[in-house]
Amino acid sequence: MSSTTVKATPLSSIFKPLLAPALIVVSLAFWWASRPLPEPPPMLDQALMRLTGNTEFHTLDETPEPLPWEHYTIARGDVLANLWNDQWQLPRETLYHLLANAEKGQMLARLRPGQHLEWQADSEGRLLNLRVWLNEGEGYQWHLDGDAISGGPLNLSRTLHEVQIAGRIDTSLAAALAGDPSLGGSADSIARQVAELLPLTKKARRGDRFSVMVQVERLGDHAEAYSAKLMGFDYEGAKIQVAAARFDDDRFYTPSGESLLPSFWRYPFEQSYRISSNFNPRRLHPITGRVSPHLGTDFAMPVGSPVEAPADGVVKQVVHHALAGNYVVIDHGDGYQTRYLHLSRIKVRPGDTVHQGQVLAYSGNTGRSTGPHLHYELRMNGRPVNAMAVSLPTKGKLQSDELKRFQSRYAGYFKLDRDDQQAGTAVAQQGGSDKGGV
Ligand SMILES: [Zn+2]
Repeated sequence: MSSTTVKATPLSSIFKPLLAPALIVVSLAFWWASRPLPEPPPMLDQALMRLTGNTEFHTLDETPEPLPWEHYTIARGDVLANLWNDQWQLPRETLYHLLANAEKGQMLARLRPGQHLEWQADSEGRLLNLRVWLNEGEGYQWHLDGDAISGGPLNLSRTLHEVQIAGRIDTSLAAALAGDPSLGGSADSIARQVAELLPLTKKARRGDRFSVMVQVERLGDHAEAYSAKLMGFDYEGAKIQVAAARFDDDRFYTPSGESLLPSFWRYPFEQSYRISSNFNPRRLHPITGRVSPHLGTDFAMPVGSPVEAPADGVVKQVVHHALAGNYVVIDHGDGYQTRYLHLSRIKVRPGDTVHQGQVLAYSGNTGRSTGPHLHYELRMNGRPVNAMAVSLPTKGKLQSDELKRFQSRYAGYFKLDRDDQQAGTAVAQQGGSDKGGV
């Protein structure tokens, strides 16, 4: 177990988006489907139908989860306006508003490489809080409430410790980590982060051995961790044997440099179809004038067109819903989820492992829909993102210099508990093909 203080947070997640309590309605001229609804809608649906009137229902209400803080470290060549809009998916008007009107707002115009930013946005992508750190102890924070901005200096010492914990599974990984004070109360979070990369729910067994490397961040002298980020893991179990660690791009790679993430297609089909409605989290309802976000992309597709998995994953949900129609949710691991609404026929079941290109379902016009189309959503860590615009993971292997840098950074870690390096390589290859999400 090491405990060293380092100066700067390594490149952090570009996208660590939010969980969405998303309830989406879109206007439409006519909605009545010619056949009866597939099942009597539960009370919530009836209430929603009354509320929404002549509207199309796209996404479902979900239990809100606490809003996570996003992190970013400014790199050489970054242009804040581009990061803000394209990568962080924050409204550009908010940046201009801060620059023009916030006390110390001009700090944002003078960011330097290495400076660390943190922010919280709500499910519709509106900025709530923003922190700019000048160094590890000093910074400035703004709070936004509609157009009102309040701000003040931050004077906390921020320390980063790298912690390694090894153990054995008895009941669960979270339980095995729970007693360790060095994690500052973040055992559950770390177990969740591992479970995004390994199919622990199905394949963890009593007696499995693991180690995790975690970067724990503390503010001031708080005992509770301010953040805890999984940096690496080495899991040697009866059914899972994978070791991997986080690299500069925030993705996990095995000791031989193979990416753990499946690659993603841009579209969940192989034909080409016209986009009938774009992703727009700030779309205004044409009649009410209220914000009525459209958190997916609509494709005009004839009923019965095959809908294919854009990446490997596991079927999380298959639902027949009065408003969203028949829909499927696929979990691709590492926080990536896709959803397909208004389907006609569904070919998969919850728990199925699916492979890129596999037909999941056939498009349709079920639920409350304007006409035959597919509503396709991509979520990253629960937050809907524009699947047509975000950079998508490509199945990658680290090459030459990157691979050397990666291997030298984790050389000490990957040797942990291993008899020899050859064993490590074999395990990693097996692990690479055994991924497939949560
Ligand atoms: Zn839609």
